[in-house]
Amino acid sequence: MTNLDLAEWFSAFIHILLTYTLITLLHLAVPAHHVRGYVHDGPKFYRLNGLRVFFIVSLSFIICIGYFQYLDIRYLIRLRMKHSICACILGLIFTFLIVLPFKQNSSSFWLDIYLGRLKNPQLFFNRTDGKILLYLIGGIGLELNLILFYFQFAQENKPMTNIIVYVILFSFFTIEYFYHEYVHLYTFDFIVEYVGFKLVWGCLVFYPFFYPITIWCQIHPTSLSFTRQCFSIAVFFLGWILSRGANNQKYLFRTQPKARFLGVFQPISINGRLLCSGWWSISRHINYLGDTLMATGLSLAIDGGIYPWLYPLYYVALFIARERTDNERCQEKYGRDWEEYCRRVPYRIIPFLY
Ligand code: NDP
Repeated sequence: MTNLDLAEWFSAFIHILLTYTLITLLHLAVPAHHVRGYVHDGPKFYRLNGLRVFFIVSLSFIICIGYFQYLDIRYLIRLRMKHSICACILGLIFTFLIVLPFKQNSSSFWLDIYLGRLKNPQLFFNRTDGKILLYLIGGIGLELNLILFYFQFAQENKPMTNIIVYVILFSFFTIEYFYHEYVHLYTFDFIVEYVGFKLVWGCLVFYPFFYPITIWCQIHPTSLSFTRQCFSIAVFFLGWILSRGANNQKYLFRTQPKARFLGVFQPISINGRLLCSGWWSISRHINYLGDTLMATGLSLAIDGGIYPWLYPLYYVALFIARERTDNERCQEKYGRDWEEYCRRVPYRIIPFLY
């Protein structure tokens, strides 16, 4: 290994470590909303300030890199692979730190490593929830990679509507996630998952480096036709309406069971336990279709060959498996009510198809 190589590895490691440290410190210091969660074995209140931290870090990055040019953009892009490998290594180290010291959870050591032993680890003297912090690092990491991807082409002065539409839509995806951070306390990851390799590595490596898989591809900046722009944006926002609508409707039902969603949709439920109106009457996991359509809209926008399609394809595989797991969980939890729900809403994810 040459000296130059070593220096680059060192820089990459420091960049990743500094980013994690900065996000963590900001998360601990910036004023937060204290929100009650859904799980009873979790913290009484979650400290949520994701959107604020997101904007502080992203805007600082844009100003430092794009305006003051404290770091050379080309240098950062050259380090991309090294950044991702450092994130992998740190992801492994954090996995061991969050799993090994704690009581065995399953019969297999490796299953414990993969799925985790703690469901709701509280960190920094109980000031923050481990899952919240992991999602924060993952979401912001994703955004920083998108910003860098934009700057990579912005200097070339070529038409690049494909890149602009892609970056704007994907940034919308991350911003609106943090805007609705409290809603995600009611999702599978917070209700069911433990914190092990799957979640730690997912947040530190998969979100920032695989979701925007396009950053790794040979993308040619082009001017998308108006029809193509409209089509990709329409698919993306159709997905958003399905996903956000379902998640927010469920949140409202859990927090104010009698309230009309968006002031219009009267909740109809099975014994007050399972919603079967509005978004939850279209299919049993219409939100999964929504997220997949959002990913499809992104791949359509970038117009970058086959590889960007791995992101929506990954969703298809993830959601088919997750729906099955959730179905078993709900069958066990709700029994007859779940059977009745399946009878009234027969489709798992895609209405009339699946
Ligand atoms: P859901 O939001 O569908 O949550 C499933 C849980 O909701 C069930 O376990 C049950 O929990 C409750 N539930 C199910 N049906 C009903 C009903 N009819 N009425 C009321 N409550 C019901 O799934 P996820 O948590 O998996 O996904 C949440 C969001 O996150 C989705 O938009 C999904 O697409 C997205 N997602 C994104 C990922 C990503 O990597 N970007 C990964 C995974 C998900 P309980 O009974 O305990 O309330």
